[in-house]
This record gives sequence, C-alpha cells and structure tokens, in this order.
Amino acid sequence: MLNDGLDPDQRIRILPQPKRKKTGLWLALGLVCAIIVTGGAGGAWFMFGRSTAIPIDTETEAQIDASQPCDTKVSHFAADPEIVVIDFPNLTIQGLTLDRVAALIEKAHLPRNQVLDDVDLREAIYDCGDTIESYYYGHDYKAADLARFFQLAAQQNITLNAHELWLKQLLNQLGWLDPGAVGALITLPAAVPPVTESMRAVILHHEISHGAFYTVPAYEAYAESFWNSLTDVDRAAFISFLSTEGYDTNNTNLMLNEAQAYLVFTPDPQFFSAKALGMSQAQLDTLREGYIAGMPSFWLTPLANETLPVSAPLKACQTN
Ligand SMILES: [Zn+2]
Repeated sequence: MLNDGLDPDQRIRILPQPKRKKTGLWLALGLVCAIIVTGGAGGAWFMFGRSTAIPIDTETEAQIDASQPCDTKVSHFAADPEIVVIDFPNLTIQGLTLDRVAALIEKAHLPRNQVLDDVDLREAIYDCGDTIESYYYGHDYKAADLARFFQLAAQQNITLNAHELWLKQLLNQLGWLDPGAVGALITLPAAVPPVTESMRAVILHHEISHGAFYTVPAYEAYAESFWNSLTDVDRAAFISFLSTEGYDTNNTNLMLNEAQAYLVFTPDPQFFSAKALGMSQAQLDTLREGYIAGMPSFWLTPLANETLPVSAPLKACQTN
C-alpha cells in the first residue's frame, strides 16, 4: 500500500475534511451519487451487466508511466504476468473498489475476520482522518487475501458496491477466486489532483515492489531476512512510521513488506524520508544501499535505482 506520508492533521489541510457521523440514509445516497458521478469501469458494469469479459492488456512500468487512463484499465505487468495492475482514472474509484478490502486485510484497529458494511467502513475511514480517496494512494493484495474478502463478504451478506462487484468479476476471470491461485493485484490512480504525475510514478514503483514480494518467494525471503537483520532500534523506527500511516503493526509480514517498499522503492519525501523514520539521512542511505547490495538478482533488482518517472507522462488521459 502507499499512504501519503502525512499525519492526519496535515492531510486534512490539503484534502477536503470528511463530514463525520452521517446517517445511514445519507451514506447510502452518498454511495449512489459517488457511483453515478465517478462512472468508470465499475459504473459501466453496474449499468450494462456482466456479460462481457474485462479487457486485460500487458504493460511495462514505462508504458504505465507514459499513460493517463480515462477509464479503469487492467494489465498484466510485463516483467511478471502474475502481477495484475489496475490503473484507475481517479482516487475515488480506486477507493470505492478497494477501501473495504484494505479495512479487512491490513488497516490498524479493525477486525481481520469481518468485512465492514458501508456505515462501519465510512466510520473507520473518517475516524483516522481520511477520506475514500486518501485511505490509500495505491493498493496491493495477494490473490488469496482477495478471495478471502469475497468469501467473507458473501458469508456475512455484506452489500458490495458496483465497483467491488466489478473487481469480483475480474478476479473470477483471472481464476483468482479458486483455491491455491497465485497472483498479486497492485493499483494506482491517474494524475488527477491531489495526485501529480510524479506521485503517480512513485505509487506505481512502490506497488510493483509489493507485487514482486507476493509472487517471487526468494524475494519475500530476502525481505524477511533483511527485516530480521535490523537492529531493534531500526526495526522499531519502521514500525513506528508504519503505525502513523495506519498499518496493522501486529502483522509482521506486512511490516517487512512495507519496509522494503518504502526504503527502496518510494523515492519521494512526500511519502517517505529519513525524518519520517526519525533517523539521519546517512543512516537511511546506509540501510538502503545495504538492502540493494544484497537483493537477489531478478527483474526487480534494476528498478531499485531507477529514476522516476521511467518515461514522460501524457498530460491528458487516453481511452483504451
Ligand atoms: Zn505499500
């Protein structure tokens, strides 16, 4: 996942402050309005039914960097087709599609075995000072966790929105709802304010590293060994930083996955910095260089030192 690196007070200054304690009726109306206003692939599914397959392209990081989707776009990641990228036209559609999943899988202080209904989800988002848009700037999940989300939602009779039902259709199409499926979903938004072109490239870069973590066992093992090699002080610094970003710090696998993503693949002080970790730049540089030096050699390795964006972005969106 990628959060914006701001504490909630700072975030409220740059994003519209959410209204608290809406009634159930207003929540329902708000969701319907959001779906109608935002349109996108989820909205199209809602309006036209599920008879047609969702188109899935194949793209490199450079191709995604160079594009701006007007509509939700799905691609296999060229370097590792087990990674599927959803490129959303804005943060709102991304949030409507995946915030409820985030709440189940890894947001702090929420149940790990209960899918939230609309009222509880809004409450959870607003209680940490966020909005649908800012809950995460990018998402990443492994196939098994997504399958578990939809299983639990069905068991608990949770009413899912049109965007979530579109996601379910996509996962079904990919075979990811079947037992034992292997895959990683990563997502990013188009460069629509408050997201800039540079932020979009950093979000993608960060999420790609999570994709590798989920699909390449040797890379997950390396990230874990690095985490275990940290001093108690350095590990505590990462946990403290990730706690302020809303991650469930009881999940060690999540902690070490996020540590590698922020340390090496998030070159933007708005999202991550030595100051945010409470250490000196020299200390952070040493950790980062040590991590890169020991990385197993595979397609992710050269991305550690890439300059972002990999290719110049389009100013306006393009339809598929
Ligand atoms: Zn992340």
